[in-house]
Amino acid sequence: MIVLERKGDFVLKKFVLASLIVVCFFLLHAGNTFAATESRISGQDRYKTAVEVSKKTFPKGTGTVVLARGDEFADALTSTPLAYKVNGPILLTKPNAIPDSTMAEISRLQVKNIILVGGTKAISQEVEQQLIEKGIQVERISGSDRVSTSLKIAEYLNPSHHDIYAVNQSKFPDALVIAPYAAKRNIPIILLSDSTITRADVQKYLDNVSNTFIIGGTKVVGAKVEKNVPKPIRISGASRYETATVIANRYFKGKTDMLVVTGKDFADALTGSVMAAKRDVPIILVSQDKVDNSVKSFVKKQKVNKYTIIGGKKAVDPSISKKLYSPIINKKSETLRLVTKNTYLSKNYVPKNLVVPNVRFSTTVSERKHMVKEAGTALEKLFRAANNDGIILYAQSGYRSYNTQRYLYNNYVSRYGQKEANRFSAKPGQSEHQTGLAMDVTSKGVGFQLVERFGETKEGKWVANNAAKYGFIISYPKGKERLTGYMYEPWHIRYVGVEHAVFMDKYDLTLEQYLSEY
Ligand SMILES: [Zn+2]
Repeated sequence: MIVLERKGDFVLKKFVLASLIVVCFFLLHAGNTFAATESRISGQDRYKTAVEVSKKTFPKGTGTVVLARGDEFADALTSTPLAYKVNGPILLTKPNAIPDSTMAEISRLQVKNIILVGGTKAISQEVEQQLIEKGIQVERISGSDRVSTSLKIAEYLNPSHHDIYAVNQSKFPDALVIAPYAAKRNIPIILLSDSTITRADVQKYLDNVSNTFIIGGTKVVGAKVEKNVPKPIRISGASRYETATVIANRYFKGKTDMLVVTGKDFADALTGSVMAAKRDVPIILVSQDKVDNSVKSFVKKQKVNKYTIIGGKKAVDPSISKKLYSPIINKKSETLRLVTKNTYLSKNYVPKNLVVPNVRFSTTVSERKHMVKEAGTALEKLFRAANNDGIILYAQSGYRSYNTQRYLYNNYVSRYGQKEANRFSAKPGQSEHQTGLAMDVTSKGVGFQLVERFGETKEGKWVANNAAKYGFIISYPKGKERLTGYMYEPWHIRYVGVEHAVFMDKYDLTLEQYLSEY
């Protein structure tokens, strides 16, 4: 169930297409129900998104704004603690002209001071002049380059302690995910080269530093740099997405709210960072329509029930809502091994731990009674539950070796022709039965046959309604023939584990769709 409601607490201006949609997601996970509240703040472009974030963060206006260049992150990257300190938003400008939407927001906020971050190449003299003419006091913080600008901002912050966050000067994600916490604690973010520290200005600054928290792996801030900074402490994950969750786990324990931003571009994260700091919530990164496993585990562990997406649908796809709460997929798991007409098993693939589950069989062939142990145990539970509901199921065909499948397939081909045989029988190596995770089930009512009619019987309906609860999916469902390459097989169930099966069932996904989309 999805409830969609529009909040009417903002005015839709003529040229501003902004959206704030609150969606409550009621997600059912293997019996546990909980709701997550989603909202999205976005404008038509990055400049307008920054304006919308500012409206939400400073609804009553404020005295100071930090203005940064919107088309490149160079100087603005370390400006979040600065904006937080002066209690103002970060708004974006083009190098030579302030966009109308930004100007309108500056007026709405009733700003008296503006801090420009970066030199005249980043934000031109004309922009400065435009503001001065409006009667606004303008201050510029800039150095000879982005590194020196970061040192100037650090001086401005003038912290009472001597800790710093050190990030790579040419990558934006690490700086922006640490920004909310750095801002709250008034800790400067210093840009460093990825391999060496040779600059006198940086070395001089480091002389007074007690602890250096390096954000990112050795690929972004090298081991050589680590040796040359005072008391290095590295905070990093395997990717930008994981690094964001490592920071969230470390500094935002117990928080059930977060900002969700694209990890592919800097602008939305930069403008969102002040909001994150003021709300005291982490910034979590996603790629357009993909959620990293580390993000899924963070959301699960922290029981995140509220989040705000910053940016448009091209930056963060609406499908993210489902994906944040989808099960963690271990692509190496044998239980989730995909076997299709395009992805097949080798001749020598034999699953480990084959057992004969304690269920009713309608076959006497020994090999077919076998299943992988975990799947067999689940099948026993499924059959017992059916029994309790007065449904008598029979297991007809489980594990089939490569050779068995070759024999079967060749047989079908000689009887029905290859084209017809391909609709219902797999070529050797392409059968899910070779995984030991699949079982064909049937009933007395259909004469123990494997026929479509089984789906219409009370046994077939029971299987369709209950298989997921025991970790099974119907691999070849009705209406998905084009996707699966096989006709509807209501009798063929395949074990994937309860969490995955429930999710696939809920969102009507084949295993192939599930593995590629989630
Ligand atoms: Zn089958």
